[in-house]
Amino acid sequence: MKDDDLIRYSRHILLPEIDYSGQKKITASHVLIIGAGGLGSPAAIYLAASGVGKITICDFDSVDLSNLQRQILHQDNSVGTNKAFSAKKTLKKVNPHIEIISVKNKLNIDEVKKLAKDVDVILDCSDNFKTRYSLNKIAFDLKKPLVSGAAIQFDGQLSVYDFRNHETPCYQCLFPDSSSQEEVRCSDHGVLSPVVGVIGSMQAVETLKLLLNIGSSNVGKLVIYDAKNMHWSEMKFRKDPKCEVCA
Ligand SMILES: [Zn+2]
Repeated sequence: MKDDDLIRYSRHILLPEIDYSGQKKITASHVLIIGAGGLGSPAAIYLAASGVGKITICDFDSVDLSNLQRQILHQDNSVGTNKAFSAKKTLKKVNPHIEIISVKNKLNIDEVKKLAKDVDVILDCSDNFKTRYSLNKIAFDLKKPLVSGAAIQFDGQLSVYDFRNHETPCYQCLFPDSSSQEEVRCSDHGVLSPVVGVIGSMQAVETLKLLLNIGSSNVGKLVIYDAKNMHWSEMKFRKDPKCEVCA
């Protein structure tokens, strides 16, 4: 590690749980972020600033003026441009010493699988159930850890699925019936800007913990944040023996 990097990452290196060797591990890591919106923005910015050596960020959508209230990767002059491309520009300013790969095409399952094959952690920062179920299956098939976040109105959720451990339950165990779930989108129902910041930042925290193998992870737990009442709760769940994906 160069002298500048020792200074840049000194507050990490000072933590005995990370130290010099942990920071080197972060630098050698590759994460895949699906979605460069409200959750993907804080997650990507913190992971880039933390020194994750390679970040692949995917989003086929373009930046809309209504995104700027919460999607802090994008600024006024990014309106109309692709979100993954805009994300790369911002992340390069945050940390010019890491590699950022932006993917702006709409991907099918095989293409995501190909991208995810060599990564250390997958972050689900998407905004729809179809992508969540697909990423769960892909992460399970590849035995990769998946950090999943969601936020709407004043509420947020976070869960971690560490498929390196075959005991871990999956997203499908937690929500077995996709048809019963109503798609609730920020574009229709609104969202308080920093709620996505809280959940996306927590996704970055859990990702670094998985990369470094420190602390206890959130596996088998759904953390629920009620911002209106400043209330956190936790729901434990188990592997479903009849799960279509992981049983
Ligand atoms: Zn399952």
